[in-house]
Amino acid sequence: MNLGLDDAERAFQIDVREFIDAHWPEGAREVGGAMAHPPGRRSVAEQHWYDALCARGWSVPNWPVAHGGTGWTPTQHYIWDRETTRAECPVMSAFGARMLAPVIYAWGSTAQQAKFLPPIREARVQWCQGYSEPGAGSDLASLRTRAVRDGDHYVVNGAKTWTTEAHVADWMFCLVRTNTTTERRQQGISFLLIDMASPGIEVHPILLLGDQHSVNSVTLTDVRVPVANLIGEENHGWTYAKGLLTHERTGIAGIATSQVRLGKLKQMAACEQDGALAEDAVFQRKLQEVEIELMALEMTELRTLATVQEGGAPGPESSILKIKGTELRQRIADLQIEALGYYGLPYPDDLLLGNEGPVGPDGALDSLRRMLYGRAASILGGSNEIQKNIIAKAVLGF
Ligand SMILES: Cc1cc2nc3c(=O)[nH]c(=O)nc-3n(C[C@H](O)[C@H](O)[C@H](O)COP(=O)(O)OP(=O)(O)OC[C@H]3O[C@@H](n4cnc5c(N)ncnc54)[C@H](O)[C@@H]3O)c2cc1C
Repeated sequence: MNLGLDDAERAFQIDVREFIDAHWPEGAREVGGAMAHPPGRRSVAEQHWYDALCARGWSVPNWPVAHGGTGWTPTQHYIWDRETTRAECPVMSAFGARMLAPVIYAWGSTAQQAKFLPPIREARVQWCQGYSEPGAGSDLASLRTRAVRDGDHYVVNGAKTWTTEAHVADWMFCLVRTNTTTERRQQGISFLLIDMASPGIEVHPILLLGDQHSVNSVTLTDVRVPVANLIGEENHGWTYAKGLLTHERTGIAGIATSQVRLGKLKQMAACEQDGALAEDAVFQRKLQEVEIELMALEMTELRTLATVQEGGAPGPESSILKIKGTELRQRIADLQIEALGYYGLPYPDDLLLGNEGPVGPDGALDSLRRMLYGRAASILGGSNEIQKNIIAKAVLGF
């Protein structure tokens, strides 16, 4: 695989850098990059960034051109990802743009594509994912939220849990059971789009250690959902749900973000503890091991990207990306805390009260939050143990 850039690609890189400098200047980066406001709420600078992306036609580069994608080559995507991550540009919520949209353009009706894709592309609507339930996480097919047909509507009753950003979401894509008598549990599931403003929906926060409130439980009581909001065929939702998960897992790997965090870790190791870590062979070895593994994972990511660009979908290899990507994220976050030494100790008051610091050296509180929240990365999107089962079956053929 040739990773050198040709003249056209270098010109594209310059174009991207100029665009970022114009619309996401240094001043905005300090605020946006450090998790400075609660998840799901946008600063003025972030909104300006999304508006500029839409105006340029770059808001959803991965989508098919027919629906507003850019038609970039894999290398252009690679350049875009690296440059925007390096500059800590805001990232459009994955729920709409990366997870739901591929389901809608693959299986949604023309009317659904016309209604739901433009607001996602223009970052005007916030989605959340209603898959997990109490008692249905890894074993998702055992979900019990029930949807019963009543004329032109479904009446939905049940409970979802761990629903990220439900408290700020306008819509939820939701798995519901529409048939309770099928031989296989997967066969009776449907994929519904539910307006979060519908009567009968209640959202309750679940507070996590080090988090500023991102996850929730959601109860649905006699919620009426138009049949027009059913994606594809009734009882066939499992197929669409699985397709969505491969896109979700590829995104969770977060390789470009890990590269940025690794750069910050190196800076920390050089400055903190009076520079002692620069001479510490054990610490340096841990750092280099992570760097090598990250480079290897990047090659796997590029192969997946090439498959997608050639019209394929990310397959079971997205599980490999998810496992290694989240493990590396956690190791980098742990090493940052190790590098911070004394300042890596928890600050319960600051975490609970949502204070922004400054506490300890620059970025210490942010590192601590990332380390704590990062524990969830190997659970969400399907736990890493489940990903290993998928690799065993779908890749190794056991
Ligand atoms: C921060 C966070 C955000 C989330 N956001 C969302 C969201 O927005 N929407 C949504 O729908 N869900 C969300 N989830 C839920 C997430 O998808 C589930 O937590 C995950 O699928 C695991 O399910 P569970 O929590 O029920 O654990 P369980 O399924 O009960 O698993 C418990 C443990 O047993 C292991 N295990 C279970 N079955 C097997 C097996 N067959 N083989 C080997 N090991 C096994 C698991 O790996 C895990 O370690 C979120 C979770 C977290 C933590």
